[in-house]
This record gives sequence, C-alpha cells and structure tokens, in this order.
Amino acid sequence: MTQEETFKALVAHCKEYGFIFPSSEIYDGLAAVYDYGQLGAELKNNIKRYWWLAMTRLNENIVGIDSCVFMHPKTWVASGHVAAFNDPLIDNRDSKKRYRADNLIEEYLQKIEEKIEKEVAKGRKRFGESFDEAKFRETNPNILREKAKYDEVHQRYLNAENNNDLAEYKQIILDCGITDPISGTRNWTDVRQFNLMFSTQVSNTGASDDKIYLRPETAQGIFVEYLNVQKTSRMKIPFGIAQIGKAFRNEIVARQFIFRMREFEQMEMEFFCKPGTEMEWFAKWKENRMKWHVNLGMGAENYRFHDHEKLAHYANAATDIEFNFPFGFKELEGIHSRTDFDLGNHQRLSGKKIQYFDPETGETYVPYCVETSIGVDRMVLAVLSHAYEVQPLEGGESRVVLHIPAPVAPVKVAVLPLLKTDERLTSKAQEIVDILKYDVAYQYDEKDSIGRRYRRQDAIGTPFCVTIDHETLEDNCVTIRDRDTMEQVRVPIAEIHDRLVKATSLTNLLRNL
Ligand code: ATP
Repeated sequence: MTQEETFKALVAHCKEYGFIFPSSEIYDGLAAVYDYGQLGAELKNNIKRYWWLAMTRLNENIVGIDSCVFMHPKTWVASGHVAAFNDPLIDNRDSKKRYRADNLIEEYLQKIEEKIEKEVAKGRKRFGESFDEAKFRETNPNILREKAKYDEVHQRYLNAENNNDLAEYKQIILDCGITDPISGTRNWTDVRQFNLMFSTQVSNTGASDDKIYLRPETAQGIFVEYLNVQKTSRMKIPFGIAQIGKAFRNEIVARQFIFRMREFEQMEMEFFCKPGTEMEWFAKWKENRMKWHVNLGMGAENYRFHDHEKLAHYANAATDIEFNFPFGFKELEGIHSRTDFDLGNHQRLSGKKIQYFDPETGETYVPYCVETSIGVDRMVLAVLSHAYEVQPLEGGESRVVLHIPAPVAPVKVAVLPLLKTDERLTSKAQEIVDILKYDVAYQYDEKDSIGRRYRRQDAIGTPFCVTIDHETLEDNCVTIRDRDTMEQVRVPIAEIHDRLVKATSLTNLLRNL
C-alpha cells in the first residue's frame, strides 16, 4: 500500500471501530469537524491525562486551570488576533477551490527538497561504499541547479511573509508555475487575507458591540487569569499555568483528517519567568517536551525540531516539534518564547496593573513567558498513525493491529472465557473482571471463536488478552496474550492485577520522565 492508501485505510479503520466519526454524518457531515467515538474518547482522555499529570503533578510550580471559550472581545485585540490572525488565501477559478498561498509555495519547496534527496539516493546507490555525500551535494550539477532554485524561491517567500506582501505571494505562484492539484490550471485569483476567528453574538439585539469570538487558542485564558492564579496560589516566579480546552479556527484548507480541524482541543502551558531568563527556560522546555514525546515509545527518529525563521509578532524564539505523520514531518507542538507581549498588552488595554513583585530582589516587572502548545487531536493522530499496521501472518493471512502505547490504549485488557456455553468459565471470567475493573480499563467478550476475539482486540489496540480455559478451573491460572508479540504466558490469577497495572498504568510512564 502507498502511504496515501494506508492513511485512507486508517481513517476508515477509525470509523469502523468507534474511534473517530465525521461530525453530523447523517446530514452528510460537516467539513473539518469530527466526533470521538467510544474508543477515541478514551484514547484522547488518556493522552490528556498523561500531559496534565506530567505538567501539574511532576512540577511543583505548575498549576492547572479551566477557563471559558468566551472571553471579553478586547482580549483578542490585546493578543493581536483581531489585527493579525490571518491566512493568505488564493482561489483557483476553474476548480473553484480555495488554498492557502503560503502552503502552495511550501509544498513547491518541499518537492524541490525531495528531488534533491532522490538525486542523493541515486548517487549513494551508484557509488556504494566510496560515496562522499557532502562532496556530492556540493558538486552534482542537478543538485546545484535545484538548490539554486530552492534558495531563490525560499528567499522571495520569506520576504513576502515578512512584508505581508500579498501580490508577491501570487507572483511567486505564477513564476513557479504552480498549478491547482484538481484542475491542473494556473487560473488563480489575487491573494487575500482571511481572519481565522469565528464570531457569534452574546445577546440578540444585533448591536455591533454584541460581537464575541470563540477562542482561537486557550493561552489567552491563562494570561487573563494570571493575576488571580498568582495571588491565590501564592506562586513565586518562575511558575507555570497549564490548561486543556477547546479552540476554534475557521481553517480554510481543512484537510488530513483530524490534523487540521475547525473545532479542536489544545493543551497549553504558559511558564512565567524573569525577563532575561527566558532563553534558558525556552531551552529547558524544548528538552522537557521532547522527552515527554519520546517517552511514549513511538521512536525518537519520528520527531524533530523545526526552528522558526520567521517569528510571530509576539515571539523572540520559536520552534515546532514535528512528527513523522503519514503525509510527512508536520507540526505537532509549538514552543514559543512570547516575551511580555501578552501580559503587557492586557495591562495596557485593561488598565489593570499586571506585574510581579519579586520579594527577593525587590524588583517589579511584567513577567516574560515561554509557552508550550500542543493539539490533542494531532497527538491522537500521531499515536494512531504510528500504531496502525496491517501485519502479514503465517499461512498468507494478515491481521490489522494498533500498536498503541499501553498506558494510553483505550482498553488495556480483554477478559475472554474460552467458551460462552460453559458457565464455570464465564463466572470465573466475571471474577477476574471484578479483580481488574477498578484499576484497569477492560472489555469482556464471550462471542465468536477465540481467534476472532483476539483479532477484534488487536484492531482496537488492546495490549493484553486474558483467556480463561478449562485448565483455569484446576490450576487457577489464566493465559495472558501479548498484542504485539502474540506470545502467551500462563499466570496465576492472584498475580494478574499487579502485573497488568504495572504494564499499562500511566504511573510508570510518568516515572520515566
Ligand atoms: P499550523 O501551522 O499547522 O496551522 P499553528 O502554528 O497555527 O499550526 P499554533 O497556533 O502554534 O499552530 O497552535 C498550537 C498547536 O495547536 C499546534 O501545534 C497544533 O498541534 C494545534 N493546532 C493548531 N491548529 C489546529 C487545527 N486547526 N486542528 C488541530 N490542531 C491544531
């Protein structure tokens, strides 16, 4: 299967097994909005819990809050979203499709990079052992030509971004001969700015000051509550405030399943520090967040940092943690050094003093802030896409298995009596359910052959199956089958609780951080 086919199969699998459904499907769906089904909700909750505990339990100086989606409209003037939360859009007149102009150019640049890498791979094959990659990159005429093209377009693109030059975006698209992937034509409109915030009204008088926004990020709830939290928690700088919650963005090009949604969830942490120390904290949080990801066991090679060349209006340093999604390395989390931009602006617009008095030095200042911001849904997609495998088995068969890291798997153990018709086995299985149910998410299943039941559990990523057979009645042992290796071991019933808790609980994952 190509990567695209695998991704399509994953999306279908998520629906078939109750992880993720397109929203309002009986009315033909609503673009870029998805609902989580019974298993997706569990997976998502586990991921949120892993993040929440890592932030608030493992750091004495981080507390969590829960602020509202609706906020005073001035919030979004202070944050810069009213003036600058825009995407440059372009339409193709033939396909009638709308695209982000920056994305079209980035994809063009990515294709050049891929061409260069292909050329390098060819060289490696041709020269074998004696291949000198650095020299090859410096001297191969095809690579040099592509590299020069890349550098020229890249520089123009950066200038267009920095100067917010919409005409230049279009000119780059025309000069590079970028065509619409659907119509194949270059019949483009001009590039326009489009604000991404959704708005609604607080009352029904229709007056213009009724207008209120659905928050496009959760961070501003933290900034606006900074004073309340600092005072009531008596936290001393440096300290952090964490929050998980919904955010809304009117994404124009909403593609790639739950990667880019109009309603999504964020896990954000704002770490307040003394001005001048922010780079140190920025470096610490980069390291800390990468550790959190790698600790899940999905392969360090599947993550990389991507430092921003162009900084957002509020940042003095920024990086993305990118994950190797089925459609390439893409942003999973952002880490930004936001200076005193947000608190400073809220202070100015609200007229309220938002300052910190440092009892040790006697100084008063507006704290600086380092933010870590990750999309819950992108994290769910990272886990599911990494987990999904169609695995060939002996005898020409295959199984679909989700290798979800056990501590975040929606179901940790399946309890399976070998025969549903033998009451001694089913009642023993119920005893085991009673032992496990308070600490371990389980499913009880007695239908169909044991082989089919194993397949069903593999397909939803259950790390362990406990089978109760006739021997169990004699030796009080059960078989535990491992999802990934398919190996089976006999274990006394008295040991299964501790064994399964140890293998699947978040606690051990957190201990490794
Ligand atoms: P992108 O460049 O992909 O649009 P962004 O830089 O606008 O993302 P941020 O504003 O830094 O994203 O948001 C922080 C995190 O929130 C992102 O790293 C991502 O995980 C998540 N996120 C942002 N927009 C969406 C969306 N439309 N759907 C799902 N998750 C999102």
